[in-house]
Amino acid sequence: MKNCLNVIIVWLLKVYILLPSCTSPTSKQVTEIIPPIAYYSATDFSKVEKYDTHVHINTDDSSFINQAKKDNLRLLTVNVNSGMPIEEQRTVALKLIQEFPDRLQFATTFNLKNWGTKKWLPQTIAYLKASFEKGAIAVKIWKNIGMELKDANGKWVMIDDARFDTVLSFIEKNNITLLGHFGEPKNAWLATEQMTIAGDKEYFSKHPQYHQFLHPENPSYQDQINARDNMLKKHPRLRFVGDHLGSLEWNVDELAKRLDQFPNMAVDMAARIPHLQVQSVKNWQKVHDFMIKYQDRLIYATDHGVDAKSKFFEVNKEAHTVRMSDWKFFVTSEVMTVPDFSETFEGLKLPKEVIDKIYHTNAEKWFPGITMAEKKITVNL
Ligand SMILES: [Zn+2]
Repeated sequence: MKNCLNVIIVWLLKVYILLPSCTSPTSKQVTEIIPPIAYYSATDFSKVEKYDTHVHINTDDSSFINQAKKDNLRLLTVNVNSGMPIEEQRTVALKLIQEFPDRLQFATTFNLKNWGTKKWLPQTIAYLKASFEKGAIAVKIWKNIGMELKDANGKWVMIDDARFDTVLSFIEKNNITLLGHFGEPKNAWLATEQMTIAGDKEYFSKHPQYHQFLHPENPSYQDQINARDNMLKKHPRLRFVGDHLGSLEWNVDELAKRLDQFPNMAVDMAARIPHLQVQSVKNWQKVHDFMIKYQDRLIYATDHGVDAKSKFFEVNKEAHTVRMSDWKFFVTSEVMTVPDFSETFEGLKLPKEVIDKIYHTNAEKWFPGITMAEKKITVNL
């Protein structure tokens, strides 16, 4: 009996000791359950599989792709209705994809030949259909719509023009992503000395036709943003990636408003990371919190490119340097400088989970088919 009583006492003691773990956990226990936030380091750069979803490869020279391979990047080469004829751009892309099927995919585009005639729409649908059959996973629309194209009566043609609706619906029906570069960075509407970024000063001094400050008769910055927003309102199911931070590179609050308003919109960061960096000089926390909040909608990209005239060694060296600098900005908290402005700023030190999204998962989510395994080549009319 005494033995039995001892057993009961020991059992009761055990129950008492174990009881706290059977009830709701204390805050101390909660902190023990949550794993610490993991971060990458600057030296992890080449170990992590990444994408750059905005490059322009217009030569069959493969050294740019080989450098991307060394940097552990897969690429989306983007055809643009500018420079080399779009048919040739597509041919180059297809040749390179055959050579590097696990490294490269392509975005097609369409031209504006025969705009304003009955020929334009069937010709455009036919070109896109053929491109999708050949494996294009996105369609790029460039800033010439909104900045160059005019009707015969001299009226500017903007992207919310009803004549684009059939084309945009065709893209949507085929589960293809629309990549859109509309307008310019806001700096284009400022005098050169007021621009915030050296890269913009250089670009607009070399391309005065796009320096909108010199052309007050052209559509305004707000006209460009409004036309894009109207187009998205008309096509809410169209999957849209706004190039260059959606031309809202100058203010993360303005970009946040559009990402809230348009759930089917993401943005690539191509050639606009210095604009995030310059904002972080004044308000690091705001830029950091924006990246965390919109971690599913931001896609790493550079806008680097090569054509037959490129000095490949220099381009590849520069591309590698920029990629390393971007990585350092996103993953570390180091004090940094970039050639675009004189102030120093701190890296954002984003958690590993966020880095994996902006460099990898988001590219796969917003560009179905960017991995060979998912690729579908069934065209819907
Ligand atoms: Zn580009």
